[in-house]
Amino acid sequence: MGDKVYRGQIIAEADGFMSVPLHASVSGNVSAIEKRHHPSGNLVDAIIISCDPNSAQALYDEGPVPWQDRSPADILNTIQSGGFVGLGGAAFPTHVKFSVPEGKNVRFFLVNGCECEPYLTTDHRIMLEYRDSLYLGIRIIQGMLGSEKTYLGVETNKWDAIESLRHNIPADLRCEVIPLQTKYPQGAEKMLITAVLEREVPSGRLPIDVQVMVNNVGTVAGIGDMFAYGQPLIERVVTVTGPGIKNPATLLIPLGTKLRDVLTHCGGLTDDATQVLYGGPMMGSPQYNLDVPIMKGTSGVLCLTESQASISRREYPCIRCSACLDACPAFLNPSQLGQLARSGRYEDMLDLHIMDCMECGSCSYVCPSNIPLVQRFRSAKGMIRIKQAKAASQ
Ligand code: SF4
Ligand code: SF4
Repeated sequence: MGDKVYRGQIIAEADGFMSVPLHASVSGNVSAIEKRHHPSGNLVDAIIISCDPNSAQALYDEGPVPWQDRSPADILNTIQSGGFVGLGGAAFPTHVKFSVPEGKNVRFFLVNGCECEPYLTTDHRIMLEYRDSLYLGIRIIQGMLGSEKTYLGVETNKWDAIESLRHNIPADLRCEVIPLQTKYPQGAEKMLITAVLEREVPSGRLPIDVQVMVNNVGTVAGIGDMFAYGQPLIERVVTVTGPGIKNPATLLIPLGTKLRDVLTHCGGLTDDATQVLYGGPMMGSPQYNLDVPIMKGTSGVLCLTESQASISRREYPCIRCSACLDACPAFLNPSQLGQLARSGRYEDMLDLHIMDCMECGSCSYVCPSNIPLVQRFRSAKGMIRIKQAKAASQ
């Protein structure tokens, strides 16, 4: 408490391999360490920094980080100490994802430039405005993974980004920009691998099992920035949009900024706004407190009015219309899985490959009975993982 901290300085250490450190996103004084609301709805420990209005907000440890003659393990350590997690929304620690298991190899590095959800323009802006950082990130990661080639998959509704990226690929970089059909969920890892490489990740397996590693453009560009001038993950690009916000914008926001302040910066909510989501309309999570912080995984803030929001929709029984089966990109049976989830029959759900569900929300979106299928699948998968972890530790 009362400590002076600087922008980019570590304020909380990683406590294990699955963890990353946290850095101050502004220079100022630590005014409190206390429980605060988290976007998940829980109260968690938070370090509160009062921003110093007289600070120039220079980086704590500014300057390029050498990478050319360093070992892959060393680069991986630097990525962990930079606090990097997947910025596409999942927030999985990047150094864990990049740790290739014994006996496996990465032939292709796939950079995901497909927006993870409708409404969002976060990845689009990153590809236009952080192109050189993106290419530096690709160069470093490609070398670290020892991969043959990098493919950058971009949906064709972002032609300006495709052209800019294509015309500026460094001549010595083994990288190709692949235009992809604009459809949801094109940005899901397994969908992207099939679309770019025509490879299918078998049920229950990971991209590494088909020699592929996938990462979001924001994460790769952020890693490029860290090696270029020493900036750890302390800010991110966020789309603030939807009919419920007065002045939609895509902004670069310091992590930890209050949602309320972001909304105010965008002119505030409209009078008929009824719901604010973190993320997009398909997979986003509703926020019930506007004092939650912008997190590393906050790709968008979507403000909806009553006609789009799902909060007041009544649930009806399944009418077996099969719309959810037609919509499921993983070829699952959401109708049957939904009934099993409702009665807690998780073992039966495993037999029907629930773990292949990418939680895209397409089934819930098309369901005329308003059944919250994806929410049930998310919690069922959580229960299954807990059971599996308990069984493994016995
Ligand atoms: S959320 Fe629904 S549509 Fe999407 S993969 Fe899972 S079951 Fe299929
Ligand atoms: S879309 Fe809804 S109503 Fe139709 S089969 Fe699927 S769960 Fe049942």
